[in-house]
Amino acid sequence: MPAVTFDDVTKIYGEDTVALRDIDIEIEEGEFVILLGPSGAGKSTFLRVLNGLTQPTEGEVAIQGQSATSAREDVGMVFQEHYLIESMSAFQNALTGALSRNGLLRSFLTWHSEADKETALEALDTVGLLHESGQRAGSMSGGQKQRVGIARALVQQPNLLLADEPVASLDPKAARDVMSYMKQAASERDLTAVTSLHQVNIAREFGDTFLGVRDGEVVFQGTREDLTMDV
Ligand code: ADP
Ligand code: ADP
Repeated sequence: MPAVTFDDVTKIYGEDTVALRDIDIEIEEGEFVILLGPSGAGKSTFLRVLNGLTQPTEGEVAIQGQSATSAREDVGMVFQEHYLIESMSAFQNALTGALSRNGLLRSFLTWHSEADKETALEALDTVGLLHESGQRAGSMSGGQKQRVGIARALVQQPNLLLADEPVASLDPKAARDVMSYMKQAASERDLTAVTSLHQVNIAREFGDTFLGVRDGEVVFQGTREDLTMDV
């Protein structure tokens, strides 16, 4: 079974803003997929229908055969603006990833189990921040913050890792650093990953497969060898 299936997916905002148009694709388990395309092409919307934050207007999005809206705990998400709580440590931020798995009520009633804490430390280790786990997020560099964001998504123990322009605000060195941690995390944990990126040269270094999106349509799906600079 594919990790992700889009079956004739169309998303229209308001009356007539077509963000996704008749998308019919499959993503295989364990693939590291990079979404490429100009601003406004529909990349964020593609990720939002995958994490169940937005419903398609038509068609079905499935994650391992289950509708995307009911598979939300299986999806971890990394954001361009990372959305860390700056006053909390890297460890405490990573731990908040357990909230979506445990449910808010249980989390508030019992706080975190030792197992959750262990999971958070392992996730920080995966992104190379075990020794910085006590550091306040607000005092970290942009690249470190983004790695904490990845750790938080990993604590959720997802099958699918999504990232919306995770390195857009970083310099090229930090961007490569973050991408290589994300790639390594996905590979160690057998995750399927879908990341939007606008830097084609960085995409080329890290992607296994590529989806080119333009005007809401997938205009390209292929491997690194198939990738030209003009998608
Ligand atoms: P990208 O991530 O590639 O920049 P988006 O998915 O954000 O593309 O946007 C695709 C299209 O949908 C654009 O025309 C954008 O203006 C529009 N759009 C995105 N989100 C919304 C929204 N919440 N309401 C209305 N239009 C939206
Ligand atoms: P932000 O853009 O900072 O996320 P919001 O929280 O108000 O601001 O989210 C509005 C969402 O709508 C954003 O995700 C943005 O991508 C999307 N959007 C994009 N284009 C449009 C548009 N033309 N009209 C309305 N919303 C849009």
